[in-house]
Amino acid sequence: MGSSPFDAWITNDPEVTSLLAREWERQTTTLQLIASENFASPAVMAATGSILTNKYAEGYPGRRYYGGNQVVDEVEELARHRLTSLFGADHANVQPHSGANANVAVYQALLEPGDTILAMRLDQGGHLTHGSPASITSKWWNFVSYGVTPRSDDPAHPGELIDFDNVRELAHAHRPKMILAGATAYARIIDPAPFREIADEVGALLMFDSAHVAGLIAGGSHPNPVPFSDVVSFTTHKTLRGPRGGAILCREEFAKKIDSAVFPGQQGGPLEHAIAAKAVSFKEASLPSFATYTNQIVANSKAFAAALGAEGFRNVSGGTENHMVLLDLRQFDEELTGKVAQEVLDRAGITTNRNTIPDDPRSPFITSGLRVGTAAQTTAGMKEREFAAIAAMMARALRHRDDDAEIVQVRSDVAALCADFNPYGSFTKL
Ligand SMILES: *Cc1c(COP(=O)(O)O)cnc(C)c1O
Repeated sequence: MGSSPFDAWITNDPEVTSLLAREWERQTTTLQLIASENFASPAVMAATGSILTNKYAEGYPGRRYYGGNQVVDEVEELARHRLTSLFGADHANVQPHSGANANVAVYQALLEPGDTILAMRLDQGGHLTHGSPASITSKWWNFVSYGVTPRSDDPAHPGELIDFDNVRELAHAHRPKMILAGATAYARIIDPAPFREIADEVGALLMFDSAHVAGLIAGGSHPNPVPFSDVVSFTTHKTLRGPRGGAILCREEFAKKIDSAVFPGQQGGPLEHAIAAKAVSFKEASLPSFATYTNQIVANSKAFAAALGAEGFRNVSGGTENHMVLLDLRQFDEELTGKVAQEVLDRAGITTNRNTIPDDPRSPFITSGLRVGTAAQTTAGMKEREFAAIAAMMARALRHRDDDAEIVQVRSDVAALCADFNPYGSFTKL
C-alpha cells in the first residue's frame, strides 16, 4: 500500500516501528479467523491516519462548541448521509467510539435507570453489553434473557436457534421497555420480523444490535432490520470492514435523544478521522462489488462448516447462514477444550477464539466451543476451496497437538496459503 508523508516520522521511533512491522507480519502470514475482525481497505486506513485527528468538534454539524469546523462538518454530514442511504434509515449518529458505547448510548437515550430490557443470554450468543454482570449495563438496567431452543439430533431440525416462544413468553411476563435482538456468537440469520411482532404485543421498543452482521445487511446477504426496528446499533469494523468504531440508526422521533445521549451523554469530542474513514467504508459498502463480497463470505462459511463437519466437529445449530461457524469440540475430541484448541491453533498460525456453546458444561474461560469467521480471509480473496483446506489444517493441528513437528508443518502450510492471499497485496480498489 502507499505510504503517507508521515511514515518517515514513525521510523524515528524504532520501538513502535518495529511493533507495527511485527503486527504486519503476523496479520499477513497467519490466518485471521476471528469472526469480529476484518482487513480494512488502504483508503479506510489512510483516512484513519489523517490530519482530522487534530480537530476538536464537540457537538454536531452546524452546532459545534468550538470554531474551525467548516471541513469536519462536511466530513460528518457526508458520513451521515452515506449511512442513512446505505440502510434506508431516517437518522444516523456516526460518533460512537465503539459498538459498546453505541449500545450504552441507546439505553441511556430511550430508557430510565432500572427499566427492563429483554436480550439474548450471554452464554448462548449475547454480547457483554446485553447485561453481563461484569458490564455497567447490568447495574443500570434490569436484563431478562431469552435463549435458544434445545439441541436435537434430527439433522432436519437441529435446534439451537433463537427460541421465539421463549422470547414471547418472557416479553408477556416481564413487560420489558425494550427488546434487544442481535448476537455475538450465533451463526444463523436473525429475522427482525418476529421480534417486531412480539415488541408490538407488549408495547416495547425494538433495538437491533447488528454489530457482527452490519456488512452482510449492507451487502444484501441478510434482511435489513431498519424497517422493523426503532433503533439499530452496530460496529463499523466487523463485516462492514470500516475503521474501529460504532454507529446508530434510528427513527426520526428518537434522533434528538440518541444524539444527546452520545454527546454530551457518553462522549466528548468525536473522532473525526474515524468518521472520515467510516464515510469511506460506507461508500465501499454501497458498491456492487461489496454485495459480491458478502455473498462470498456466506458461501465460504457454508463450505467451511461442511468441511469442519466432515472432520468431526459438530456445528452448533447444524450449520451457518452468516460469516461465522460456532463449533462444539466435544464430538471431535471429548478431552479438547476451547482454550486448548485456541492455543494449539495459535501455534499453527490459525487465529481463532474459544467460545461458550449453548449448555456448555465448561466455564467461559475454558469452554467447549470455538468460534471461527470467514470475513477477513474472504477480503484477502479466499474462496470455498481455501476454506476446505483450512478446515483440514485445523483438524490436523488439533489431532496432533502433542506433536511439535506436525504443528510446525501445519504452520508452514498456513504460511504458504497466506502468501498466495495477502490482503494488501491483492487489494483492488472498490
Ligand atoms: C462486537 C459487539 C459489540 C461491541 O463492539 P465494540 O466495538 O467491541 O465495543 C456490541 N454488540 C455486539 C453484538 C457485538 O458483537
